[in-house]
Amino acid sequence: MENRKLLEDSAHYLLQTYNRFPLVLRKGRGMKVWSSDGKEFHDFVGGIAVNVLGHCHPKVVIAIQKQAQRLIHTSNLYHIEPQIKLAKLLVDNSFADKVFFCNSGTEANEAAIKLARRYYHEVLNQHRFEVVSAINSFHGRTYASLSATGQEKFHKGFEPLVPGFKHVAFNDIDALEGALTKETCAVLLEPIQGEGGVRLPDPDYLSEVRRLCDKHGVLLIFDEVQTGIGRTGKLFAYEHYATTPDIMTLAKGLGGGVPIGAMLTTDKIAAGFQPGSHAATFGGNPLVCAAAIATLDLILEDGFILDQCRRMGKYFRSKLEDLKKEFPSLIADVRNMGLLVGMELTRDGAPIVKTCMDRGVLINCTSGNVLRFLPPLIVTEKEIDHLAEILEQIFDNLS
Ligand SMILES: *Cc1c(COP(=O)(O)O)cnc(C)c1O
Repeated sequence: MENRKLLEDSAHYLLQTYNRFPLVLRKGRGMKVWSSDGKEFHDFVGGIAVNVLGHCHPKVVIAIQKQAQRLIHTSNLYHIEPQIKLAKLLVDNSFADKVFFCNSGTEANEAAIKLARRYYHEVLNQHRFEVVSAINSFHGRTYASLSATGQEKFHKGFEPLVPGFKHVAFNDIDALEGALTKETCAVLLEPIQGEGGVRLPDPDYLSEVRRLCDKHGVLLIFDEVQTGIGRTGKLFAYEHYATTPDIMTLAKGLGGGVPIGAMLTTDKIAAGFQPGSHAATFGGNPLVCAAAIATLDLILEDGFILDQCRRMGKYFRSKLEDLKKEFPSLIADVRNMGLLVGMELTRDGAPIVKTCMDRGVLINCTSGNVLRFLPPLIVTEKEIDHLAEILEQIFDNLS
């Protein structure tokens, strides 16, 4: 009864912007979550790549509790100790020299786009404003990042979009070269397309993009909102491809569950922003930074979590490859980098997500027919086996 009332009130009081399952999740520990009607689930969605350490990791919980007791929010009018520490941690472990904090992935991309335009204007005194991104990409829902997003379904009815955005096919280096002009300020790419269906770059694509950007004097922005913070088995996906961006955006996994975004760049490009150029009231506030420090400390501690992610990514893939061999007419492709895992079906994925839920496993489907798995990086073989068994039963019933 109480559960039904919650679902009724949800429909009554909230803007209906989400296609939600009739499920209220109330408690989580590690890989598991429990709903208000008492059901238990294995969580292979992980808050869409947010819960990298699983639910309510004790070290993250304690960091939040301690910081909440000490100081929750001040203002960027003053220096913020956890923000400084977190920036140092990110700089020490990436290509970057400087960090700007905000509250989400879309905001991190807004900051990146603004910085790219501003850098040419302020530092190089050039009029460059155009951003080239990929077809099928996803960069967020606010206007500039929405304009960068290369999927028409997200644009529909919101036009006119922000001027100065172009889209080219991912993995098509010639198309990219054709799109670069004297007015291009940046190429914005996800190293691996996440929402677009877990699409990996061809082996040399990103290094070729880097070469083109250098040749044409254009900045390279990597949107690592989904791929960053250990998801692919390295702290950042760019490390797999021997390609360093000029600007990188982060969010999702960064705070271990609390809302935080970041834009990282080099000293040279950071000179495009001066005091007053850009800001966020909540950006890098003490509470979220304390959670992010705890999350990063755990991931970096002894390399165990990144190693686990790589091993479980391989194991996951082998289990899904086995299913593909067993059900070739249902499964078109299996793709992964670490624990960013996709399984392309030859049919709509939504009914399979629903059946998995009925059997106690939460999974996601993106791009209509790509089952996507984004478990916490602490997932074990046993939990992957359990999921694979359920998928096998479902595919068996379908074939
Ligand atoms: C989720 C996502 C975003 C948007 O992040 P929000 O925090 O929802 O604004 C941007 N880029 C990529 C690659 C994402 O996966």
